[in-house]
Amino acid sequence: MRKPLEKRLALYLSAAAILSLIASVLTIYFFVGTLNRNAADTDRRLITAGIESAARQTEAWAADYGWWEEALFLFDAGSTTVLSSAMASPFDDHDGFDLVVLSEAGGRSFGWHRDTGLKVRPRPLDPEILTGLRRGLQQSVDDGRFVTSQFADRDGILYLLSVTTLGDSDDRASIDEMSAPIIVIGTRIDKSFIDQIEQNFLIENIRLVEEDRMPVPGAVQLTNQAGEVIGELVWTQSTPGIDTLRVAMVPIVGYILVFMLAFHVMRRRVRRLARRSEANERRARRAAARDALTGLSNRQGFNQYIARPESLRAARDGEAAVIYIDLNGFKAVNDKAGHQAGDTVLKTVAGRFRKNMPLNVHTARIGGDEFACVVLGSNASHQALELARTISDFLADPVQVDGRDYDIGGAIGVSWSTYDQPRAFKDLVEEADMAMYRAKAEQLDQPLTYDCSLGIEHNRRRDLEADMEAGLERGEFYVVYQPIVDAADGSIRSVEALARWEHPTRGAVPPDVFIPIAERSKLIQKLGDFVLDTVCQDFAACSEHTVSINLSPAQLNSPDVCQRYVAKLEAAGLSPDLIEIELTEAVLVDDFERARERLLQFAAAGFRLNLDDFGTGFAGMGYLHQIPFNKIKIDKSFVRSIGKGDGSNKMLQAMSLLGDALQKDLVAEGVETEAQASMLRLLGFRYLQGWHFGRPLTASALRQHLRDYRHTGT
Ligand code: C2E
Ligand code: CA
Ligand code: CA
Repeated sequence: MRKPLEKRLALYLSAAAILSLIASVLTIYFFVGTLNRNAADTDRRLITAGIESAARQTEAWAADYGWWEEALFLFDAGSTTVLSSAMASPFDDHDGFDLVVLSEAGGRSFGWHRDTGLKVRPRPLDPEILTGLRRGLQQSVDDGRFVTSQFADRDGILYLLSVTTLGDSDDRASIDEMSAPIIVIGTRIDKSFIDQIEQNFLIENIRLVEEDRMPVPGAVQLTNQAGEVIGELVWTQSTPGIDTLRVAMVPIVGYILVFMLAFHVMRRRVRRLARRSEANERRARRAAARDALTGLSNRQGFNQYIARPESLRAARDGEAAVIYIDLNGFKAVNDKAGHQAGDTVLKTVAGRFRKNMPLNVHTARIGGDEFACVVLGSNASHQALELARTISDFLADPVQVDGRDYDIGGAIGVSWSTYDQPRAFKDLVEEADMAMYRAKAEQLDQPLTYDCSLGIEHNRRRDLEADMEAGLERGEFYVVYQPIVDAADGSIRSVEALARWEHPTRGAVPPDVFIPIAERSKLIQKLGDFVLDTVCQDFAACSEHTVSINLSPAQLNSPDVCQRYVAKLEAAGLSPDLIEIELTEAVLVDDFERARERLLQFAAAGFRLNLDDFGTGFAGMGYLHQIPFNKIKIDKSFVRSIGKGDGSNKMLQAMSLLGDALQKDLVAEGVETEAQASMLRLLGFRYLQGWHFGRPLTASALRQHLRDYRHTGT
């Protein structure tokens, strides 16, 4: 599953924060490192340059003292006293050098040292050093310089030695450096030597590292005539990178801290947002799947539950069962004692389900007073049957509302999937529903388990449904009209449109059969439209009578039913006040608010409203006030009971009084005899309808009848 946006956002944010933190640390690291490395290189180059310049200095001195005719002459003459004053005297004048050596290959050597002053020392330098110097000199001649320098260790002290040939010569290139007398000027690598470099090149704390402590990485190496490292110069490296960092540290750390803080706060907010939106979503999902009144799952929750993979698997494996329950006494309570009492019944029943159903059973309220349970598990069929009996038992207990006991009871249907006959949930649900309907029709007080015989009826119903649909297309339906007369003089005041179906092989199928089938499928809409269309055709010309049209509760489900009706009438040039819409109380029981809203639309559009079959549905009086009915039609069962005992007359009397009180006209249906008619007249009924006054007629027969009636006046 894809992560929700907020979670992904938090992830990206963390990644971006960590990456940018790493990037900044790396940048700082490389920056500092590069700065430091560059500084070290520069320092090394400066020290090397310092040494070079010192060597140039001693070389200048060597040339100054050596390239002198007199010096060679005195050396050849062996005149050490004069030589001493000439060569060693500069020790007093300046402290530039510390050692002077004059040497002849394989011959004499004289030396003077600052420490010993004018005293001549024989063999002042090791022969290897001298040979090394001569070799170096030979190479420098090739470069045209005639003077060179080397480092050497003399008695444990390091010297910078510069060498050149002795004597004034016009042709130095012809001199043999390996044998000619040479002059060596030496400078001790000591504190004053180093101070000089430090001062000239502004490098701090240069130190000479002794032979035994070498090598130091990055140091400047001093090599002798044989190329051996005999000393190293180290110094306190300048660290501009670190210095910069030190200065920049506070802002950088501050930046990082602020950044981390901001990041932390932001991430927490995003997380909280993510949690909240997830929780909201979960809550909304749960709420949508839950019945607010009972807290049980609703139809959506039920459908979700049976669509879960584990539920589907259980059904396929023959380990699922469905129980359908329809309460018997609920509607009566709702009608007699009001909505609140009805709610109490539903809540009480839900509580009993909760108390008695084990955890592996999912219970839902799937309709007004319909419940369903899903049982999963290897023992589902047995468990379901037992649970159905338990449900039957606890529904048999009366429900107390406002101190009164009501018998509720319920019709229960059960269906299950078995190992050898696995069924899909869709089928289980349909079968349990079917079994429940049969249990209801036969008023069984025990659960009914689905079997194939139920399926047969179901299949017949399905066939009928298919036939009906085809019949509507093929024009097997037609409409008849039954007169409704004025009770005072028997004159026809209106007609009621009634649907008829003449099936080619089934014959005349009575409305009591096909209307319920149409109501349980989508066909009622089509049928209703067909009746209205026919009425429009039949009455487009003569509209002196109003026409009653029956409207099923299911037709009110479609939100635009009123607009559609208005449009049809307009198209036929008829006005809505020609039409009386007849509704049974059933319309008001299921979803009163919606029914009321739609009926008010009809009323507002100019239709008249009749309450049909009054007295059979236990509609509360309150409804009558809230919906502007024009007429109340008393069910024919009351008419039929006229003259059969005192009670029924009293009932009709009460209805008549009610009509007076509500100021509604009363219509009596099913009037078959003159006796009934006179009784109803006495009771104050305004309109009468029944075979005594006229059977339902086709449109043309009705027209003929009306013509005859006008002629004869009977
Ligand atoms: P209803 O609305 O109560 O219609 C009156 C029924 O009483 C009609 O039955 C009518 O033929 C019958 N009737 C009239 N006078 C007498 C009489 O003197 N004695 C007896 N025993 N019956 C009489 P029908 O036509 O069989 O219709 C039955 C029900 O089917 C209607 O009851 C109505 O609820 C429904 N229905 C009929 N046509 C339509 C329709 O077009 N749309 C809808 N939604 N329902 C319809
Ligand atoms: Ca009717
Ligand atoms: Ca009726």
